[in-house]
Amino acid sequence: MSKVLGSRNPMELQDSNCRLLLECLRDHKQLTRQDLVEKTGLSPSGISKLIGVLINKGVVLEDVAVVRNRGRRAISLKLNENSIYSIGVRLARNYIKCGLFNAKGDLLDSARQDIVTKRLAETTTVLRNLIRGTLATAEQKGIDIFGIGISAPGPLFTFDGRLVLTSNYPEWQGFSVKSFIEEEFGLTTYVEHDANASVLAERWYGKGRDCSDLVYVVVDRGVGAGIFSNGVLYRGHQNIAGEIGHTSINFNGPQCECGQRGCLEMYCSSFSVMKEARGVYAEQQPPGWTSDMTIDNLFELANEGEEYAVKVVQQAGRFLGIGLVNLINTHNPERIILGDEMTRAGKVWFDAVISTVKAQTLPEVLKGTDIQVSDLAIEPAFLGTGVLVVSKAFERVSAL
Ligand SMILES: [Zn+2]
Repeated sequence: MSKVLGSRNPMELQDSNCRLLLECLRDHKQLTRQDLVEKTGLSPSGISKLIGVLINKGVVLEDVAVVRNRGRRAISLKLNENSIYSIGVRLARNYIKCGLFNAKGDLLDSARQDIVTKRLAETTTVLRNLIRGTLATAEQKGIDIFGIGISAPGPLFTFDGRLVLTSNYPEWQGFSVKSFIEEEFGLTTYVEHDANASVLAERWYGKGRDCSDLVYVVVDRGVGAGIFSNGVLYRGHQNIAGEIGHTSINFNGPQCECGQRGCLEMYCSSFSVMKEARGVYAEQQPPGWTSDMTIDNLFELANEGEEYAVKVVQQAGRFLGIGLVNLINTHNPERIILGDEMTRAGKVWFDAVISTVKAQTLPEVLKGTDIQVSDLAIEPAFLGTGVLVVSKAFERVSAL
């Protein structure tokens, strides 16, 4: 739960306090006014007034009567899941997923389409078609959309929704997905780094629910981290914080598109793993390998113990481990959650990640750091797009 910081005027203060109450109701599902007094430290009269505002806005509903201490009955409150709807889009490098979310962040409808080329024209066509389809579904259900949330690979600028660099996708560079969608559909659009959207999803639904110093690491075709620090998303001055994929683990390494040499994601992303695997196949043609094998074929071979597949997958795990050690030493998170394509590599990979971190982190620091793999049934970078829009709505209840 985020803390209420110094606000400048009564309306901002009311908005900040409303957000605090909504976050409590989101986390606990059912609370009485007295519970909210205890959890927030706000006065009973203040809570009653704010709840009045939230009920009038339709965001909170009075629910059933519950019996508390000494047989006293009180009305419980809950978040109105039907009050805020959003469209969420995950723009990944090889597919786009689009969904309809309610105020609890539940996914009501979704569609997905692969991106076959790296051409921007294909990306914009798929984006437009998927969002059109989801808007049509919302209309059929009689639902008004509050806004559109997008997660995309970083680095990107959230203020104008511009992709600054997407490794291996030169046509995407400088594309403002925010301007494109706002001009196309006339709906306010919020763009977030896929790792930031993921950490929000883990904080709302996943292994980060009880954790205020949390990092989510996307280990996909690129690598990035979403940092949730002291209860809030840490973005940095230009929203570039968490770009661990572009921190160097080899200053003599190959040149990266960002200008740096030996960037982490050149060694442990699924893209780099497949590049490495193609090289191994060309030289060795190991048993069970084929020229058109997929990354999942490689993971399967590694977990069956095939020597060359084990080497490739373990090496990627060790390189990621070095990146995590850097992350631990710069951010000291309580928990690190790993997610996306590379986590499908399973035990062979994860054991290599953990043994590297164990060998290269101070034992006392290691004891206070928990590393896990995400277990959300829906990919967090997609789920987080719904969370992103609802969080924006919670920030300004006065505007609803
Ligand atoms: Zn780089």
